[in-house]
Amino acid sequence: MAVDYQTIKVEDYESYVGLEMVDRVYTKAEPLRGFRVAHENSTYYGGGVAELLSSMTLLMSSVGLKAGWRTIQGSPDFFSVTKKMHNALQGGEINLTSRKMQIYENAVRNHLDHDLVMIHDPQPLGLIRHDMKKGPWVWQCHLDLSHPNREAWNYLKPLIESYDAAILTLRDYAQHLSIPQLFFMPAINPFSITNRELTEVEINERLAHYAIPTDLPLVVQVSRFDRWKDPEGVIEAFKIAQREVDSTLVLVGNAATDDPEGEEVFEAIVRQRDERVRIISQQDSALVNALQRRAAVVLKKSLSEAFGLTVTEAMWKGAAVIGGNVGGIRYQFRDGENGFLVSLVAEAASRIVQLIKNRSLRERLGHQARETVKQRFLMIRLLEQYIDLYKSIEPIYRLRKSPDDLLMRREPTY
Ligand code: UDP
Repeated sequence: MAVDYQTIKVEDYESYVGLEMVDRVYTKAEPLRGFRVAHENSTYYGGGVAELLSSMTLLMSSVGLKAGWRTIQGSPDFFSVTKKMHNALQGGEINLTSRKMQIYENAVRNHLDHDLVMIHDPQPLGLIRHDMKKGPWVWQCHLDLSHPNREAWNYLKPLIESYDAAILTLRDYAQHLSIPQLFFMPAINPFSITNRELTEVEINERLAHYAIPTDLPLVVQVSRFDRWKDPEGVIEAFKIAQREVDSTLVLVGNAATDDPEGEEVFEAIVRQRDERVRIISQQDSALVNALQRRAAVVLKKSLSEAFGLTVTEAMWKGAAVIGGNVGGIRYQFRDGENGFLVSLVAEAASRIVQLIKNRSLRERLGHQARETVKQRFLMIRLLEQYIDLYKSIEPIYRLRKSPDDLLMRREPTY
């Protein structure tokens, strides 16, 4: 019988992480039975945060928390401003007019009276202004904050500082803030449709459904159509590699409801489609899974990336991965050991050639990659970090103890 990923429980992780960890998480979660936590972000699908929350809220509920998930509602104008803000936090330009600020600050409405509220990314950040705060509020930013645009950052900083803590993906992204900062790397659900085991028949069926040719090795990038994911650079690298090896490129992307730029990016590359360059705009998690399993090479050639979930997803499937040498990707694997890091299109091209020519290299990297994910990037680890945080922040909030107590955390060791 197929595993229903909606009913996955912490004990289902035992075969990957061992009984000791499963027991420890249950024991830690026990005092939080009935604890009401609300997660709020800006889209139910498309992008890593939605992927993360869809699994994490279920896993939290499975250990007794009352975990809910909401998204902010906004007009196209609102999401146009928030996408600009998103780009600016990753270093892009922004012309922050008073009209944009007004749209940003006033568009969000919701009622949140939970024991703890987690706000994800900049879009719903302003909710804290709406006088609902009854307990601790934590802001979790999933963006690459290495070089935020100063104007955008200075505008958002007072809002961020009205939270009780901020969670950033890496210590590299730490900012000057008056509130405690914690560092949690994302993780994947190995039982989801994106990541569960697939038979060869299931893989073939998915690829055939999209008429993806399987006669030549597949080079794959799965990413929202977003300029930070550099789809044009991927196509260019693939075309250079084609001079030496025959293969098929498949770019799969979706459009998130909070990303108005997706269509424009898709339009800019779609004319490069041909027999060997497949560009598919579709939300199909089973297709993502099938491609990551069948690919000879999986790329994530981002120009900015706090953490690439698709990198970890592909590594879990034993794929040979080429990632942009930026942000969190540099902490997801080690260059030459369980993947390759690249900065330039030409480097990406020569790694594609090398991997396609050398099956044993692909297998070695892929094998190590799966082990890395098993040890460090399965969702039970992130659940434990959240539980530790919730248990420490609640009494601190109530008793107004030193926020430094919050800094009990598990550091990334890579
Ligand atoms: N994804 C998907 N279909 C697509 C593109 C992406 O299901 O066409 C999923 C992907 O499997 C991953 C998430 O969306 O789980 C993207 O997360 P990532 O961190 O790689 O990038 P983000 O979009 O959050 O910047």
